[in-house]
This record gives sequence, structure tokens and C-alpha cells, in this order.
Amino acid sequence: MARYIDEQCRRCRREGQKLFLKGDRCYSDKCSIARRNYAPGQHGQKRAKLSEYGTQLREKQKTKSYYGVGEKQFRKYFEMASNKKGITGENLLQILESRLDNVVYRLGFGASRAQARQLVNHGQFEVNGKKVNIPSYLVKAGDVITVRENKKDNGAIKVNVEQNATRPVPAWLEKDNEKLSGKVIRLSAREDIDLPIEEHLIVELYSK
Ligand code: SF4
Repeated sequence: MARYIDEQCRRCRREGQKLFLKGDRCYSDKCSIARRNYAPGQHGQKRAKLSEYGTQLREKQKTKSYYGVGEKQFRKYFEMASNKKGITGENLLQILESRLDNVVYRLGFGASRAQARQLVNHGQFEVNGKKVNIPSYLVKAGDVITVRENKKDNGAIKVNVEQNATRPVPAWLEKDNEKLSGKVIRLSAREDIDLPIEEHLIVELYSK
């Protein structure tokens, strides 16, 4: 059997659920979770019962994978969330959702968060008329995100816009496919976030 080397799909298999890291493939029958939903590795088919700590850890790792964020940055977001008014876990998700790469993905300009990050890195977008090529840039209510004028012919963006034309955008965003732009109407609330994350487990983990 060919050696299984797809790191993104391995992460999904480790979590036992789809993390939607690869765009269209995630919705097809080529998805590795659809084909073999067991953890990678020699003993992957025997899924061990997790301890309380293990469950909390997996929830954090899963959330990091969803948003493509490393440990250091994730910890920084947690500290920001703790210092904000309100519920820490919900604040954390709101911060993650506010990342520019996530917003580009949510608006349908990227097939996955990973691709959206790459497009931002390559300088395809501007925020309020100014080029921003930092995927971790945090948007604010009222911000307008637009594909830059000289990038409007980008093939990948065109394909994504076409394929995602009917995909609904979350209620906190507004999309204009004609202008290739989107607006942040307000910051996301917990009920806007459709990912199966139990954020209280992450708060418990970091509060130990
Ligand atoms: Fe791979 Fe996407 Fe399926 Fe995850 S959801 S296993 S990234 S194809």
C-alpha cells in the first residue's frame, strides 16, 4: 500500500472528523475521512479513550488546525481573549474568525483557509483601500476587503468566486461578487460560527 503522506488529511484523521483543510477535495468522495476514518499510524484503528487532559488537548489542536494557527500565536490569542470583556472561549473564537485569511475564506475568495492565507500572503487583497498581505491581520467592524484592482484576473480567485457563488456567507459579513469585495458588518458572535468546537475545553486546558 502506498505510504500515506498527506499531512493535512492526517490531521483530520487524527481528530476523527473533517477539518476542511483542502478545499473542494473535502466535499468529494476522495476525502480521506470518507475513505478511512481512523487515526493514522500502525495502531490507528484502535482509538484509545482519552483522559480529560487528552480531550482538552485534542480540542485545542483541532481548533488550531481549523484556523491554521501555530501554538505561539494561539496562546497569544487566548491571552487577548482573556483580557477582553465577556466569555473567554467565545472571545477566542471571535478573534480567530477575525483573521484576514479566515475572512477571505468565509467570503468565498479562497477554497480553503490555507489557500486564502496564500492569496493574502501574495498581496491579492486590500483592506479599506490599502494593501494588506498579513494573514493574521485582524479585521474590525466596518472594514471593506477587496481583491486589488490589478489582481482581479487572478485565476484561483475567479474559480473560487464562481464555485462559491451560492455558498452563503456568515451573517456578520456581506459579499459583493461583482466588485470582488466584502464588508465586515459586525464582529462574529458565537452563533455565527458553524465549527464543532467546544471552546470551554480550551479554556479549561489553559487555565490549569
Ligand atoms: Fe483531507 Fe479535507 Fe477530508 Fe480533511 S476534510 S481528510 S483535509 S480531504
